[in-house]
Amino acid sequence: METAMRLGKRSQLAAAFGLLALTSLAVRPAMAEERAKDLFGAMKLPAATAPQSFGFYSKGCFAGGVAIPMDGPTWQVMRPSRNRRWGHPAMIALVEKLSRDAVADGWPGLLIGDIAQPRGGPMLTGHASHQIGLDADIWLTPMPGRPLSMARRETMSATLMVDEKTHLVKDARWTSAHTRLLKRAASYPEVERILVNPGIKKKLCDTVRGDRSWLRKIRPFWGHDYHFHMRIGCQPGSPNCKAQEATPADDGCGKPLAWWFTQEPWRPNKNPDAPKARDLMTMANLPRECRAVLDAPGPASVEAATYHGGAPVAVAAPEPEAPSLPATAASGTAGLPGMVNAFTATPEIGVPVPRPRPGN
Ligand SMILES: [Zn+2]
Repeated sequence: METAMRLGKRSQLAAAFGLLALTSLAVRPAMAEERAKDLFGAMKLPAATAPQSFGFYSKGCFAGGVAIPMDGPTWQVMRPSRNRRWGHPAMIALVEKLSRDAVADGWPGLLIGDIAQPRGGPMLTGHASHQIGLDADIWLTPMPGRPLSMARRETMSATLMVDEKTHLVKDARWTSAHTRLLKRAASYPEVERILVNPGIKKKLCDTVRGDRSWLRKIRPFWGHDYHFHMRIGCQPGSPNCKAQEATPADDGCGKPLAWWFTQEPWRPNKNPDAPKARDLMTMANLPRECRAVLDAPGPASVEAATYHGGAPVAVAAPEPEAPSLPATAASGTAGLPGMVNAFTATPEIGVPVPRPRPGN
């Protein structure tokens, strides 16, 4: 059904670009012009294959995704209609583990924001990253004691933690439990970065005593004043996942943080109407495997791909002529783990970091 829908969209697009195609067909196929966010944004279910991330956090996709259940004993998923509670099984397992550890630390439970679309890829709205199943947003608002209705989860506002003028944390709202939650998230070896508003980074720099080594992973970034963003490294079985450059070894509280409290990062965008990367990205811009990820069969249902602990098994719904994902470097996938270990450290490989501006 999804394939049919996609073909439908494809033919609409083809019609829309018909004139263009007539003139440019000889140069490049019209299909290359499909906007990746439309295709990935329409996916309702993951690719039911072994878990694998392709490309980079802000330019890629993933297969073998699983969903975190809408409710758990220590979490609730927010904005459920967005269908962004999908991730690499290692990511989902880690979010669940964080929720349990956080409760043990005295945080009432997690409100979970966007993780990824079922097959990742660029999104129709928001987020430059979250494309390969290894990013998750966690609200800085503690979970209420009662389950929120689905309607409430769509409309409830998160707590703004930072003064938008001074870029400093609102002291009346910040608690030591917030600090403990971020420290816990940073404590996991597979977590490489945690993105927070510069005001939150400064608050931690100014107040954390004793062990400050974890501050290295806490990275200031625009936004992230209602939620923090937890990013894990490329997982085993994903040879074509591009690692992000390692964070510097120091706590990041010096000069780089001071820059955020100058005028420069907050100057108005000179070209606010310029299209964002996600509006321009076509399938030709993504790793070539992402076409196969789009075309791969899905599971029989959402429930069949919902993570309930242990080793999730992605089982494809019966479908004729199911295309298989392209083979990657033989040695890279030969040892694909039957069980994803959420606690495997990832190698730190230097790859240039894209520097998106606000609004992404
Ligand atoms: Zn995020």
